[in-house]
Amino acid sequence: MSGTFTERFIIIPRYIPAPSRRRAAIPIQKVRFLVAHDTGNPGSTAAGNVKFYINTCQTVEPAKTASAHLFVDDKEIIECVPALTGPPEKAFHVLKKVTKDNELYGINANDGAIGVEYCYGGTINADKAYEKFVWVLARLCFEFKLDPSKDIVGHFFLDPARKTDPVTGLARSRRTYEQLLRDVEAEFKLAIGHAPPDPVEAIQSGEVTVSVRLNLREAPSTRAAVVQVLPPGTIIKFTALITNGEPVNNNSLWYKDANGNFFWSGGVK
Ligand SMILES: [Zn+2]
Repeated sequence: MSGTFTERFIIIPRYIPAPSRRRAAIPIQKVRFLVAHDTGNPGSTAAGNVKFYINTCQTVEPAKTASAHLFVDDKEIIECVPALTGPPEKAFHVLKKVTKDNELYGINANDGAIGVEYCYGGTINADKAYEKFVWVLARLCFEFKLDPSKDIVGHFFLDPARKTDPVTGLARSRRTYEQLLRDVEAEFKLAIGHAPPDPVEAIQSGEVTVSVRLNLREAPSTRAAVVQVLPPGTIIKFTALITNGEPVNNNSLWYKDANGNFFWSGGVK
């Protein structure tokens, strides 16, 4: 893979001191996959979690030592063990005795995977945190030449007896794990410049009534900028139908309005 990746967000390096119990400063020779986690602690922020790791890096009981590379909330992406902002090092984010990682990827997660923690709940804006989480997973795939459709795994999948993350955290953001994997793949394609095809327009006109809070966007995609939010009951005129917009609930039909903005057909009647 070559080329560039669209840098939509900043990654803040705020490293745990090393060597310490949470950061052994051992290089990862080859990053083979990614593990998606959530913090399991609703309302705790990226900065708060990293601060806790830094403060306890020498004193945590060896048996309870845990760490991860990145924490993501609605405001920040913070890297506390180098992955993207420095040569990747090992973190301790999956129990060593769990063997599903070895079966799937031929290596233990702590030796060959980057762990990314999703922060959720409390006052964390779920949509904004999710957007950053999706992006940073895609960014990691690009950095380490991973396949976003195969090389990301949820912690619950590796350790189902003990863990439900990131399913639990994502649910608080009204998203599923399957949706996350799809969104990372879409983000990856978009960010490496494989943009969606040009809209195919069928010229038609008429008017429809908004049935939910509806986003008017700059392109027929949920990733495009929102120009305006229309309340239910708004009557809106359209000038064209877009047949190949981003599918939402398997419906790829979007409308174009007279100002050249777009809205999804599922939000009107
Ligand atoms: Zn986890």
